[in-house]
Amino acid sequence: MPDDTTAGSVDVVVVGAGIAGLYAIHRLREQGLSVLCVEAGSGVGGTWFWNRYPGARCDVESIDYSYSFDPELEQEWEWSERYATQPEILRYLNHVADRYDLRRSIRFEGRVARAVLDESSGRWTVVLDTGDEIDCRFVVFATGSLSAVRTPAIPGLADFAGRVLHTARWPHEPVDLAGRRVGVIGTGSSGIQLIPIVAEQAAHLTVFQRSANYSIPAPNRPHTDESRAEYRAAYPERRKLSRESGGGSPHFPHPRNTLDVDEAERRRTYEKQWALGGVLFSKAFPDQLHSEEANAPARAFFEEKVRAVIDDPAVADRLIPRDHPIGSKRICTDSGYYATFNRENVSLVDLRETPIDEILPAGIRTGEVLHELDDLVFATGFDALTGALAAIDIRGRDGRELRAEWADGPKTYLGLGVAGFPNMFVITGPGSPGVLSNMVLAGEHHVDWVAETIDHLDAQGLWGIEPSAEAQESWVQHCAELAEGTLMVRANSWYVGANVPGKPRVFMPYVGGFGRYREVVSTVVEKGYDGFEMRAGPGVEIGPAQPAVG
Ligand code: FAD
Ligand code: NAP
Repeated sequence: MPDDTTAGSVDVVVVGAGIAGLYAIHRLREQGLSVLCVEAGSGVGGTWFWNRYPGARCDVESIDYSYSFDPELEQEWEWSERYATQPEILRYLNHVADRYDLRRSIRFEGRVARAVLDESSGRWTVVLDTGDEIDCRFVVFATGSLSAVRTPAIPGLADFAGRVLHTARWPHEPVDLAGRRVGVIGTGSSGIQLIPIVAEQAAHLTVFQRSANYSIPAPNRPHTDESRAEYRAAYPERRKLSRESGGGSPHFPHPRNTLDVDEAERRRTYEKQWALGGVLFSKAFPDQLHSEEANAPARAFFEEKVRAVIDDPAVADRLIPRDHPIGSKRICTDSGYYATFNRENVSLVDLRETPIDEILPAGIRTGEVLHELDDLVFATGFDALTGALAAIDIRGRDGRELRAEWADGPKTYLGLGVAGFPNMFVITGPGSPGVLSNMVLAGEHHVDWVAETIDHLDAQGLWGIEPSAEAQESWVQHCAELAEGTLMVRANSWYVGANVPGKPRVFMPYVGGFGRYREVVSTVVEKGYDGFEMRAGPGVEIGPAQPAVG
């Protein structure tokens, strides 16, 4: 096939070659559209290309956290473990890129700096940081909700004499930690996966914890021929249930509320949910994230389990969160995290008791104590959901600037489009359930919707689509109201932007669940793209769209 990565004009530019961007190339090309994907990295995989830290693996079972668009792909790929490691997931995504011949449509090491709508031609100009321009009709931002990396500006960082690493920018070559004194800042999902492995390799590990997190062990085990045969046979049913579920995997809460069952039943349910691992524990009962009373027994169960693992009760006191309800931040999934703190070569520094004052060439100073370090690892997360888009200068109709439109928090309709930015689509971003669900299926759902919408426009001979300002406003409000009815708004999480100084505190995802969201989106389409405005040309309004045919 010809190499079209230098094309100057295409139907669709896809930004990002992660899980969503890769599928977008395939899906849109299948529809006969010319597609160019621009990816800042030198390879495919997005999250799984960048986050190469030891211990990185998925927290949704691989058989669910994998593409569903092609049953042949499902049947042919062999997962080696229930929760695959980063290298295996990256191998899988490279396999997908090869199998569907996607690389010929990807311009690697290209960072999109600007995207500007030219209202006279009705086309978008996508500008790379090299100055190269690509002209297109549609632009799809598959830039990732967790791709804009955060390294906090701690005084003295530039003077540190040792190695500085970040989990989300981990080197491609192996990092030898043997005999080293390593410091890890951050105890979110990344830190919690990394810490047990560093502890095994380093001479000494110092963990700098600002907030304790809830973590639950992954029920990981290798797949066997027998288990592979089982999951292959179960795929159609698993996918169906995943699409109907709240979180995008085939698991549902107990049918009754927490306090409507007796204690024995409650305990059985927690045990079952604990055995499922990680994030699923947040939904043992339907009301668990809706009231303190329903959350408290789940939290107590967690505390009992974790205290049983940690030898020193004073260390356990520091490791068990008290500042937020369980599940109001994403529950982490670990392999031996709490037991790591029983090791002789591991120490925990509680930054709420002794904050970091500065970084010195020899290490980190907290108060009177200098923690001497050879290597410093940041596991400090991302400017989530909006960071990657805010890094791009995006201009829509009448010169509107996306950054300015979102200054008080992101505003989208269904998470898919933004008023004033016609023919621009966002994948699994703010206003969608993406980050609260299995993001492979969430990405596929969005990409399918974009492809079907473009198809609909073409069938109707229309130029473009954008949400109406009113529909967007009421969706933003609906999302906020749903979130306010949960405990999720209580935590200082990245869902509300609390991890980025100065970011407006807005609960960004849609909390109504993946299954319900899919129904909402389907209804919108059935009602003729209710809430969207269709245009015959840039500036030529024809009002709301007609019902989709077929
Ligand atoms: P990404 O994978 O983030 O890809 C976006 C791509 O866009 C990146 O490659 C980036 O380089 C590129 N890009 C961004 N801006 C630009 C630009 N301006 N120009 C050019 N390129 C650009 N989710 C789950 O559901 N289950 C899990 O188990 C899970 N585990 C995770 C583990 C880690 C360590 C992390 C960080 C996240 C995890 N997630 C998980 C969330 C994960 O981000 C998604 O599952 C999924 O990989 C996102 O795919 P994506 O294609 O939407 O975005
Ligand atoms: P994160 O959850 O945002 O955690 C960042 C950690 O760094 C937090 O402990 C935070 O403390 C700490 N931190 C940030 N700034 C700091 C500062 N100035 N000083 C001290 N500590 C600081 O980021 P993440 O761990 O990379 O995970 C992000 C998301 O990616 C997860 O929630 C999950 O969705 C996904 N992920 C999934 C997996 C998986 O298991 N498959 C693995 C990794 C990531 P505070 O809490 O106090 O802010």
